[in-house]
Amino acid sequence: MNLDNHIPERNLALKKINLAFTSNAYEWLNLQKEERYTIVDAIERSCVKRAIKVCRKYGREPTWNCDYFLGVYNREIVRQCNNLDINSSLKDAQYNNDIIEGKHDPKHATSISSYRMNPSNTQEERDIIDIKRNQKVVKKYSNIPCKKCGEKKVSFVQDTGRSLGLDEITQTYYTCNECNHLWVR
Ligand SMILES: [Zn+2]
Repeated sequence: MNLDNHIPERNLALKKINLAFTSNAYEWLNLQKEERYTIVDAIERSCVKRAIKVCRKYGREPTWNCDYFLGVYNREIVRQCNNLDINSSLKDAQYNNDIIEGKHDPKHATSISSYRMNPSNTQEERDIIDIKRNQKVVKKYSNIPCKKCGEKKVSFVQDTGRSLGLDEITQTYYTCNECNHLWVR
């Protein structure tokens, strides 16, 4: 991620958003790296814009040195990540999928209502969510080094392929928490 590297909060937020999408690893990693970057970047910028807007409304200084600005920004990032993470409680993959499939414009992520992020589900949709939940059997931290930066801060998700009817196939999706590199094995 090459955006505003001098602002650690933004770098951290980009990583968190990317990790939240990785909970939906199968769909997320089907996108090109550039597409993933564009989406993560747009959501993060949407949170910046929202924080600027709120600061202007309440007469606060919209800068990274302002605690109020940072507070609004971080709350927006957390809200986005919670709604994107399909493993977080009471959430489903709809918002995540809608962004991946281009049904929601990530540039306007913070304007999307909670209802549109997670409308109540039909039984059929619940079944699909259950399958997706079962799909993620393991999420843990590995001791292996990142293929790109070499840091041993890699987490991984194993997908048994059950939802695809491929019981024998297990794919592992690795994410480096240092440089955000993603790979599949
Ligand atoms: Zn790395």
